[in-house]
Amino acid sequence: MSFAQKFKISVKQLTKKVFLFGRLFYYHGSTVECPICSHGFRKMLPGGFHADVINKLEIIGAGYRLHNICPYCLSTDRDRLVFLYLKNRTRFFNISNRVLHISPEPSLHRIFKKATNLTYLIGTKYAEGLYYPAGISFFDLLSIPFPDNNFDVIICNHVLEHIQDDKQAMAELFRVLKPGGYAILQVPISNKIEKTIEDFTIIKPEERHEAFGQFDHVRVYGSDYKERLEAVGFFVEKQSPYTQEWNINHLSKYALNKKEELYVAHKSPKQD
Ligand SMILES: [Zn+2]
Repeated sequence: MSFAQKFKISVKQLTKKVFLFGRLFYYHGSTVECPICSHGFRKMLPGGFHADVINKLEIIGAGYRLHNICPYCLSTDRDRLVFLYLKNRTRFFNISNRVLHISPEPSLHRIFKKATNLTYLIGTKYAEGLYYPAGISFFDLLSIPFPDNNFDVIICNHVLEHIQDDKQAMAELFRVLKPGGYAILQVPISNKIEKTIEDFTIIKPEERHEAFGQFDHVRVYGSDYKERLEAVGFFVEKQSPYTQEWNINHLSKYALNKKEELYVAHKSPKQD
């Protein structure tokens, strides 16, 4: 009887565990720390990929980054920023919240599904050949199958840049959010361009990669992203952990992207 048979785990699971153990051993240290899984390492794993347009337009939230991925839970710098915001700047984990998480990031999903204060729903658009977590609903963001004013919190990161009619998707997110609720809506964004670049005649994956930085993106958002969200009714605030209000000690240990700001979209004017 093999080790895998004896302990009733598949060869695939066993291989994953061996690789995880190897990563933890190799990256052992305390220079950086993942706030999501609370493990410390000497550095994060590199991750992402190259595209000339990402460098040229300095697109934030895209491209290759040296200290990107947590060796334990595989969170990215983007995931860690969202988690730190929810934990430090909101009552996400402290009060009862009805949450819709679109195309959930695995590292965040693992934590949120265990939080007993949350009524946690996950959804995405179905695509063949991908792995999906248990309990996920399949729907189109252009027509979200929930009533108006339904969620306290929506998390929908790096989705809108894939959708041609992003205005309709934004309007749907606005519709299902409760008054007083908020949505975290991250996208790859360039502050070098004032106006979002989009061209729906570019269809071939290699041409989209060249124009927008990824084979399945339909645009590169510019600094007018905030106004695009406001056009459907949102009140948008930009949040950065590198401001005094966040007041997080030793921020550099979380290996964030210093340029990344959070776009937090409220359904009603924010009450402080
Ligand atoms: Zn982690």
